[in-house]
Amino acid sequence: MTVPLIELRNICRRYAAGSVSVAALKDVDLVIQPGEFVAVMGPSGSGKSTLMNIIGCLDRPSDGEYYFRGEAVHRADADELARLRREVFGFVFQSYNLLGMATARENVEVPAIYAGIPRRARASRATSLLEDLGLSHRLGHQPGELSGGEQQRVAIARALMNGGRVVLADEPTGSLDSASGREIIAQLEALSNQGHTIILVTHDPNVAAHAHRRIELLDGHVVADDGPGLPSKDAASVSTEADPRNTATRAPVSSFRDSVRTAMRALRTNRLRTSLTLLGIIIGVLSVTAMLGLAEGVQRGIMDSFRLLGGASLQIQPNFDQNGPGTTLTIADADAIRDEVANVISVTPQMSGGARILAGGTTQFARFTATTAESMDSGPWTLAEGVYFTASQDRNHEPVVVLGGILAGALFGEEGNAVGEHILLNGSPFQVIGVLKRPEDTFAGYQYNAYGFFVPLRTGAIRLLNKESLDTVGVLVAETHQVAAAQRAIDALLVRRHGQRDFQIQNQEAALEAQNNVSNILRMLFGAIGGISLVVAGIGVMNIMLATVAERTREIGLRMAIGARRRDILFQFICEAVVVAGLGGVIGLGLALVVGEAVNMIGATVMAFTAPILLIGLSCATLTGLFFGLAPARRAAGMDPVAALAAQ
Ligand code: ADP
Ligand code: MG
Repeated sequence: MTVPLIELRNICRRYAAGSVSVAALKDVDLVIQPGEFVAVMGPSGSGKSTLMNIIGCLDRPSDGEYYFRGEAVHRADADELARLRREVFGFVFQSYNLLGMATARENVEVPAIYAGIPRRARASRATSLLEDLGLSHRLGHQPGELSGGEQQRVAIARALMNGGRVVLADEPTGSLDSASGREIIAQLEALSNQGHTIILVTHDPNVAAHAHRRIELLDGHVVADDGPGLPSKDAASVSTEADPRNTATRAPVSSFRDSVRTAMRALRTNRLRTSLTLLGIIIGVLSVTAMLGLAEGVQRGIMDSFRLLGGASLQIQPNFDQNGPGTTLTIADADAIRDEVANVISVTPQMSGGARILAGGTTQFARFTATTAESMDSGPWTLAEGVYFTASQDRNHEPVVVLGGILAGALFGEEGNAVGEHILLNGSPFQVIGVLKRPEDTFAGYQYNAYGFFVPLRTGAIRLLNKESLDTVGVLVAETHQVAAAQRAIDALLVRRHGQRDFQIQNQEAALEAQNNVSNILRMLFGAIGGISLVVAGIGVMNIMLATVAERTREIGLRMAIGARRRDILFQFICEAVVVAGLGGVIGLGLALVVGEAVNMIGATVMAFTAPILLIGLSCATLTGLFFGLAPARRAAGMDPVAALAAQ
């Protein structure tokens, strides 16, 4: 004896209704052979739909055993049930349950998407199925443009898409006029003649008369069964083997492309809502990227001024121990550094001190710097009048002086002509040979002490300070990356010359590092500010997705009924959230670039967008979609198919 197609043993289905439980099916035993055409009858509430849902693997029995071709369905997991729904069963509902925004052909294709059938193959199969059902002129129509009878024929085509070996039709004519109803019954009869197993729920005895076998339910019991009906003579023509096109191995998560298409369609359906969600994401991404761009721009600005202040410079100072100045750092040391150390652009030996100035009958006190002619030439100041001192004046320690702009004004009046005048510095006569411009703006104000004056290095050493030791030697190195090597070379040179390390060399590394820390804090702070708006946008996405899932509960139930696994549904809704977030991300990035360009046109680089920033912006958007889309998608995927199908 062959294995029956469907075998139910002692099937019970109980629903919890408050504290009591309602039994919709009680100890149902039923065997259905391949190719049978069974009509299930019975009054409303007798358990017909429950029976269909259990046979179709949409629902599980509370008790009892269900074997499909010997396979223990009552022990199968959710994916296994989804596979059976996808490969074996085709549902036809009273209310058609077509996707409203999809065309007839696209509706028919959906089961094949979940079966992983390639696009072209499923399109041609859907087309030929619809043609067979007399709908060749309706392929591109949406359900709203079709009559009830036409919609139900689309639903039949959909049931057949993956083979439809067992067609489960639950009151398929219940919503149709009698002519359309007769047409549908004729179609089912034709399918039965082709060998499909048909299980049809109906109230109409005339309809039931078309079936080979009638089963009657009452209060969850099978009360009448006129026995196994004779399978039609062509029963063998529909194989009871799985359709070779959709074996279990060929059911990947519905392809990314199909999911994106579905997502786009869903998003187009409610344009206003989509636009508002998009707007939220756009603002979020705009603020994240703009903030990061701003942080980057500020960082660059700081680095630029830093470089101006001597990013690649070293400062050498003698050690001072508790007993006063240690061994001296001399002019000869500075010359040696200039001559022997590689990549050195300039060497600036300096002494400084204070001096009493007597000029034009007034006495003043001012600080001065004694340095080389070369350093004087290359300093960050400009001459208002006169000249700088020369190297030969330095060598000969001539008593010449260049006055800072404010000091010159104080000594000789704002309009006074200082150049050529003689003044007394600590009692020795000096000639004023140049006056520097006053620093114009606050930034330049740091560049030199306009209240002081400059004298040649040796002049200052001998005539004003009476010492040989330099206070500092500044060394400018060509490139930042050469600083460390230069520092080592100078250290070795001076240790050799002095016989000990009686000096210290400072570089800007510590300052650079501090600057980097500040920049990182800035980046995080700004990023967080931008991130907050992205979180708000994400909450918006979640809100909308929850609403979408609630609205499309029936669609979710339907997709499950035609074979979608939980992860297909999960993937679909995550996809929707990610698509909307990604789209918003791209637009937001574009806007950020435009805004950045506009802001930068006003002045210096205020916003700087690097590739990583743009990448961060886009990933933030996508991740927001993923993160906030997950909970709604899980809610969708966790739905019970029967309950979802029953939703309004
Ligand atoms: P039919 O399709 O024959 O009209 P059903 O199979 O839909 O009947 O329902 C059988 C019984 O189970 C009814 O009494 C119905 O109220 C009950 N029932 C069906 N679905 C549920 C449910 N989700 N929760 C509680 N009771 C249910
Ligand atoms: Mg019913």
